[in-house]
Amino acid sequence: MAAPPPYPQAPAPPYQGVPGPAAYPAGSSPYGAGQGACQVCGAAPAGPVTVRGHQGMIVIMRSLRRQGVFCRPCGLAVFRDLQANTLVAGWWGPLSAVVTPIVLLINLGALSRIRKLPEPVAFGPRPPLDPGRPVFRRPQGVVALIPLALLALLVLAVPLLAIIGAATDAGKPQPLTAGSCVHNDGTVTDQDLSAVPCDSSAAQYRVLYQSDDTCGPGDYLADPGYSTDGVTVLCLRPLDAADQ
Ligand SMILES: [Zn+2]
Repeated sequence: MAAPPPYPQAPAPPYQGVPGPAAYPAGSSPYGAGQGACQVCGAAPAGPVTVRGHQGMIVIMRSLRRQGVFCRPCGLAVFRDLQANTLVAGWWGPLSAVVTPIVLLINLGALSRIRKLPEPVAFGPRPPLDPGRPVFRRPQGVVALIPLALLALLVLAVPLLAIIGAATDAGKPQPLTAGSCVHNDGTVTDQDLSAVPCDSSAAQYRVLYQSDDTCGPGDYLADPGYSTDGVTVLCLRPLDAADQ
């Protein structure tokens, strides 16, 4: 039984149809290799622009990117659309909340490149895209003021907390060492102890370390906050009773 001859495996001829306007790959245009003509409307001058977008979807997220050669109005339209959508859709996820401000900032770089393009002087077969209203005069921009304000608070809060932390540290009592002498500007219960030289007239107490957690008769207990570990009990022996 003879096997049928193999079917000739001729490759399919490449599609020769004319691509629609939307099918031009990034960086090219109907007017050549991306030099000077907008890939959306054909207007000139135009320049390479990359605008990014981000969508957070709680667990997953999606990064968007539109790259191409755009004239000024088309570039502005692409920027404003993606920026406005990212401002609303970008924040929804733990990682997205971090990525979104970065994408928004990178887009500001793209915006400055778009703004450097002059207004079109030669128009293509179609009118340029309508740039529409600026991002913060769109509803999305107004909604986005909430996450942006929270972000600004967060950015401000970090150095603020550091300052508060430093101030709190500065207010912490200096640890006392056994054998030193102190002056108390507070009361016995609300102590404000400062180390002073033992031979000065301001010296009131000698600091003693008691290994068995008890102090002698007539001694005061120093606030535990004055010990290096915050737990060890230090005794304050009035200087007239201490043997000097
Ligand atoms: Zn255009």
